[in-house]
Amino acid sequence: MKLALMTYTQVETYLQSKDSVIIPIGSVEQHSPVGLMGTDHLIAEEIAYQVAENIKIIACPTLSYGMSNHHLAFPGTISINPTTLIAVLKDIITSLVGHGFKKFYFINGHGGNIATCEAAFSELTREQDIRCKIKSWWMDPTIHQYIKEFFGDRDGHHATPSEISQTIYFYKKAFDLPIRDFQIDRSKHHWPLSPEGFKRQFPDGRMESDPSLATYDLGKKVFEKSVEVIQKDFLDFEGL
Ligand SMILES: [Zn+2]
Repeated sequence: MKLALMTYTQVETYLQSKDSVIIPIGSVEQHSPVGLMGTDHLIAEEIAYQVAENIKIIACPTLSYGMSNHHLAFPGTISINPTTLIAVLKDIITSLVGHGFKKFYFINGHGGNIATCEAAFSELTREQDIRCKIKSWWMDPTIHQYIKEFFGDRDGHHATPSEISQTIYFYKKAFDLPIRDFQIDRSKHHWPLSPEGFKRQFPDGRMESDPSLATYDLGKKVFEKSVEVIQKDFLDFEGL
């Protein structure tokens, strides 16, 4: 159930029996010369909409932008600073609290959002008796293990074949296939990095990943596994 496609009377009816909502959040940032700028928010959105449809829960419009400061040296990246993102998250949640929503489950596609979302949740739960969670799909132990079986340590940390596979599954026409081979550089670095530092360390935007392993079929598999696992995690969260 997409909030954007509902009327306020339908939301009113929903609130008579439910007080949970799913919010997809991602980023607009470079994903190597192969991956799409929208990779993180496109994946969060597809998982969120599928879970929401399966179990008749409202999913809000996607928060497409995220905290991507370290990717700003690559053209097309758009980043929201942590303080701005905290303010946006608080405004969204406070709006929904005003209507009677009490449980907020963020399905996240971008690691850079985690600390900021958790900071916003700490501020919000000091002021209001609500429940918030951010679920980063690739960090779930079951999904992580599943991905490892296909990609091993060549999944890496950014522009990963597990995320690029899913976007090939959703938007095959956006890709120039097959993808050329990549070398992996595992040299040490300090974190967080400035935009210039990131580009020095990871010149083509990948972080120890091999996007040439990405395929449509694996994308379908990883997506379906993610929906299954995250749906269960949502129901656990809702039932606490
Ligand atoms: Zn990503």
